[in-house]
Amino acid sequence: MKIATRFAPSPTGFLHVGNLRTALIAWLYAKANAGKFILRIDDTDIHRSKEMYIDALKEDLKWIGIDWDICFRQSDRLNKYQEVKQKLIDSGRLYACYETEEELAVKKKSLLSRNLPPIYDRSSLKLTLDEKKELEAKGVQPYWRFLLNEEEISWDDKIRGQLRFEAKNLSDPVLVRNDGTLTYSLASVVDDIEYAITDIIRGEDHISNSAIHVQLFRALSAKPPSFSHISLLTTKDKKLSKRTGDFSLKELREKGILPSSIAVFFSKIGSSDNIIAKNGIDHLIEEFSFSKLSKSTVQYDYNELKTFNAKMLHLLDFKMIQDVLQKLNIKDMDEEFWLSIRGNIGSVEDIKYWYTVCRDEIKTEIIDKELISLAKNLLPEEKFDLNTWGKWIEAIKAHTNLRGKKLFMPLRVALTGQEDGPELKNLLPMISKKLILIRLNK
Ligand code: GLU
Repeated sequence: MKIATRFAPSPTGFLHVGNLRTALIAWLYAKANAGKFILRIDDTDIHRSKEMYIDALKEDLKWIGIDWDICFRQSDRLNKYQEVKQKLIDSGRLYACYETEEELAVKKKSLLSRNLPPIYDRSSLKLTLDEKKELEAKGVQPYWRFLLNEEEISWDDKIRGQLRFEAKNLSDPVLVRNDGTLTYSLASVVDDIEYAITDIIRGEDHISNSAIHVQLFRALSAKPPSFSHISLLTTKDKKLSKRTGDFSLKELREKGILPSSIAVFFSKIGSSDNIIAKNGIDHLIEEFSFSKLSKSTVQYDYNELKTFNAKMLHLLDFKMIQDVLQKLNIKDMDEEFWLSIRGNIGSVEDIKYWYTVCRDEIKTEIIDKELISLAKNLLPEEKFDLNTWGKWIEAIKAHTNLRGKKLFMPLRVALTGQEDGPELKNLLPMISKKLILIRLNK
């Protein structure tokens, strides 16, 4: 059977690294098996879904390098879901319920106070046709619950191993709300059947949904696909919520993290593989295996990503940096320039910085006036090359007792505005003499 996976984001916010990890794993598994990868937009919640988020999430996925074979939106398929709803009503697996939220809350409280699990008691299922008509005549709109059957629910999760649920311990889930809108489950299962999804890969927060979905697949005469529930990402102090603006890809892009760093980092984090900087992301496909993924929650630390990003940047050869340079609108950086700054780049922003150091005015500081004035007078006349720095320093040393940090730091800060950076020997020939004099004259 041809493998088919899907990523099904709800467009209610910007793509988040937690969701991205799910997308990456579903994509890698499809690619590793020459399968199909489908992007499904879960936009049935008309109040919270936004067009802007759909565009942004597609852009983010493409930026990372994730492509899809098919993309569709659930809002285009509402008729299909209504059809299936009717089918479930006709087969007796979907029943109308009339309790208000307050009534349900009272029932729940009473069960809990008796130490009983808060499972819905199916009272509405016992209503006669007349009773239902009477309620509806009074204006009570029904909502609809899926009737779970006694069958045991179990599956061999590709990440969590054998999982088992007793249907009698679960409440019949609501599939259709009393305003006619669908909850997530019905549309999700209908689509997973129609698009012949072989592997549902999603966050562990969906495990209890999956238990219900197993019966829903069967109620719709389909064999449940394989399930893989990925552990959630956390940070030291909080769970990553899908709705927080922190940790969005948009934000990481703005911070200058490379898409390949994000792809490698988030497909390796929480796996038994080390996070190693290599060029490109194709190797991720060959290296992917569910057996490497951990069951425990995964801690994400932005600083680790940042450090890793620097390692990835150090690997990039001149050809691979073209894209980044174009985005930064840098047109005249040559290979020599890139190679001399590469080792000191921690983020895309740093590229811009060192470029500016060589081409434009920057904020610098004179910390040793006497030394800088001496340096200015001894600045070699010739066209700067790789020997200029050495000659300059020798000349300065002949006129001062300053050595080591006391000598180099004031010069570096005066020339670059920073205490560390690329070797000045390499940098000097790239800065125009005019800029150097402006900086030494400050
Ligand atoms: N829209 C759901 C979510 O973002 C999809 C879950 C699933 O993959 O079925 O959580």
